[in-house]
Amino acid sequence: MKNISIAIDGPAAAGKSTVAKKVADILGFTYIDTGAMYRAFTYAVIKAGLDPQNEEESNSLIPSVTIELREDGKVFCCDEDVTRVIREPSVSSNVSYIASYKQIRLAMVDMQRKMAESRSVVMDGRDIGTYVLPKAEVKIFQIASVETRAERRYKENQEKGIPTSLEDVIEDVKKRDRIDSGRAFAPLCKADDAVELDTSHLNIEESVEAVLKIVAEKTGLEIPCH
Ligand code: C5P
Repeated sequence: MKNISIAIDGPAAAGKSTVAKKVADILGFTYIDTGAMYRAFTYAVIKAGLDPQNEEESNSLIPSVTIELREDGKVFCCDEDVTRVIREPSVSSNVSYIASYKQIRLAMVDMQRKMAESRSVVMDGRDIGTYVLPKAEVKIFQIASVETRAERRYKENQEKGIPTSLEDVIEDVKKRDRIDSGRAFAPLCKADDAVELDTSHLNIEESVEAVLKIVAEKTGLEIPCH
């Protein structure tokens, strides 16, 4: 069977990763969380005592930082398990600066393309359909209102034991959207051939079903029972 790539892009906390992971499980595809890669790099910069808002300082880590997305969903950075710590507010509030640096993006994109080369993937991010995998068979642009997104992320943080207030989450989501959409290189935007999916009034199951329907329509793939 030919490898299939499904690109899911959209603004911060739109529920992309939850939906993408479930879709990948149902289809037997590999899920690739590209946001986790930018988060891991941001963590490495902070840990090294460098300033994430300084492009030159951040770039200096490109040759030494290794990032690994494991099959079990764990994220490793230079052999350290960073799965939880990359969700901390200190990382969230700086990641969009790191993600705006072209040299860092090129290094991440190179890894992402290699991961999608030899298997079927569901990849979520901001520039997957427009830049990383422009030939992806399925492109979805997943959106939801700022309030819905912030509330979802706030609940997620609570479940993970990450202390944040709803107000701080709203500000973080708005700030990241602003920086992600405004950056010069590979900004957050909907690909011309992407299907827009508004999940403001959909729960996770409904969102997953909506994505699977688009996948079936675009690829003719038979969706396994789930
Ligand atoms: O997906 P998540 O919200 O975890 O991503 C964290 C940040 O990483 C985003 O706000 C964005 O700045 C950056 N990112 C990106 N391109 C991607 C994935 C994430 O710029 N493909």
